[in-house]
Amino acid sequence: MQEFNGLVSIKGQRKLALFTYPSFLIFFSLTLADFFLFIRCFSHDSATSLPYLYTMSKVKTSFFCSNCGYESAKWLGKCPSCQQWNTFIEELVSKETSKTKQDWKEEKKGNKVTLIQDIESSEEKRIVTHDGELNRVLGGGIIPGSRVLVAGEPGIGKSTLFLQNALQMSSLTTLYVSGEESEQQIKMRADRLQIKHPDFYLLTETSTQIIFQEIKKLKPELVIIDSIQTLQSPFIDSSPGSISQIRETAAEFQRYAKETQTPVIIIGHITKDGTIAGPKLLEHMVDTVLQFEGDQHYAYRILRTTKNRFGSTSELGIYEMTSGGMKPVNNPSDILITQKEDQLSGVSIAATMEGLRPLLVEVQALVTPSVYGTPQRTVSGFDSRRLQLLLAVLEKRGGFHFGTRDVFINIAGGLKIEDPALDLAMVCALLSSFEDVPISQKIVFAGEVGLSGEIRAVNRIEQRIAEAEKLGFDKIIISKHNKRSPDHHPGIEILTAGRVDEVYQLLF
Ligand SMILES: [Zn+2]
Repeated sequence: MQEFNGLVSIKGQRKLALFTYPSFLIFFSLTLADFFLFIRCFSHDSATSLPYLYTMSKVKTSFFCSNCGYESAKWLGKCPSCQQWNTFIEELVSKETSKTKQDWKEEKKGNKVTLIQDIESSEEKRIVTHDGELNRVLGGGIIPGSRVLVAGEPGIGKSTLFLQNALQMSSLTTLYVSGEESEQQIKMRADRLQIKHPDFYLLTETSTQIIFQEIKKLKPELVIIDSIQTLQSPFIDSSPGSISQIRETAAEFQRYAKETQTPVIIIGHITKDGTIAGPKLLEHMVDTVLQFEGDQHYAYRILRTTKNRFGSTSELGIYEMTSGGMKPVNNPSDILITQKEDQLSGVSIAATMEGLRPLLVEVQALVTPSVYGTPQRTVSGFDSRRLQLLLAVLEKRGGFHFGTRDVFINIAGGLKIEDPALDLAMVCALLSSFEDVPISQKIVFAGEVGLSGEIRAVNRIEQRIAEAEKLGFDKIIISKHNKRSPDHHPGIEILTAGRVDEVYQLLF
C-alpha cells in the first residue's frame, strides 16, 4: 500500500508539473508586459508619453529666505546662509530648466585659457555722468557692462534722481523701463525737470521677455529698470516681487549686461522691516550697491555706496530735493550747520570724514533731570551703544552723574555718522548741556575718545583742519597724539589736548 501510494503520488506530481508549466509561462509573460506598460504610463519623459496618459501640471513650491534668498526644499527656522531666524517663506516655482527657454541669448563664444601676459590691460572706461555726486559714489562714473543697484524706501526720490541723470546724459541712447508708472506720469515728471534728450526711450512693461525683445531692436547704451520688484519673468510661476522672481529677473539682466557690455541701473525698493526682498538678495548679483536714504521730513537725501567692485565704499553724495528735481549739494558742511545768533548750550561742531570728503556736522545734546527711575537715552544719527560708552567714561573719569539724567542726542540734517572722530564733539555737547554753558560756535572738534578718557588721534587730520579753516572757524581742538605734516593753516588756531578733562578746562 505504501509503495503504491508513493508511486501514485510521484506520478501525480509529474502530471501536474507537465500540465501547469505552459500556463505559468503565459501568465508570467503577460504580467511582465503589463508591468512595462504600467511603468511607461507614469514615466515623465515627454518623448514617450501616450495620449491616454494621466498628465498633471507640475506645481512645485520651495522655501526661500526672505533676507538672503537661500532656497530650501523644506521650511527652516534658522537660515543656514545668513543665520537669521524665521525668514523662510513658501513660494511657487516651476522647475523648467531646459536650455531653449533662455531669455537673453547671444551667440556664445567659447571661453578658452589665456596667458595672463597676453591679456591687454586697459584702463576702465567710465561713462562720466553730469552729476558730480553720482560720479563720486560710483568711483568716477558708470563702468560699461556693470550692474548698479539703487536701493531705498519707496517714495524717497530714486526714480526722480535716475530719470534726471538719464535725461542729462544726452549723448547716450537710453532706455527707461518702468513697471510702476504710466508713460504720462513719467512724461510729466520729465517736463518738470526741463531737460531735453533726443534719444531717451520709455517702456512701460513688466515682462522681461517683451523688455528683451525691445532691447534687441533698440540696442540702448544705458538701461534703467524701475523697479526690479515689478518685473516678471514668464518662465517662473510666482508673482512679481517674490524672491524667486527677483532672483530670476536680476539674473537675466546680469547675463544681458555681461554679454553686451551695456550698463544696467536697477532700482529696488526696501522697507524698514524687510518684507519685500531687500538688497541683501540682490547684493551678490550686482557690482555696485547704492543706498538712497534720508528722512521724508528733511529736504536732504544721501546716496551712499555699500558695495562697489570698481571703487571705494565709503563715499557719500548729498542732494537737496527741490521742485526742479534733485539738486547736488556741493558744499554740504554749509547746510549741515545751522546759523544762529544766540549761543545755545548743548551744541558743538564736529569735523568728520565721509569717504574722502570732510564734513562738518552739528551735534545737539539735551541733558535733563530724569523723571522716571530709569533714565532715557534717545539717539538719532549716532550709535546708541557708543553714547552709553561715552556717558560711562564721563561718569567714571569726570564724576558727572548722568545716571540721574535723561539724554537726547541729535545729529543735524538727518545724517547718520559712524566716524569715531565725532566722539570729542559729542562729549563736549553733553558737558555743555549738563553745565548749561554754551560752547563758542567758532570751535570745531575732531578726536576719538578712549575708555580712560584719553583723546585719540584720527585719520586725515589735515583735511579736517582745512575744511574748518575754509568755513571760517577760529579754533579746532584735536588730539595731541595726531602726527601732522608741517603744513600751516594761518586762518585757524589748532589746539591739542590729551584728555577729556583738559578740554573741559579749556571750554568751561
Ligand atoms: Zn538667509
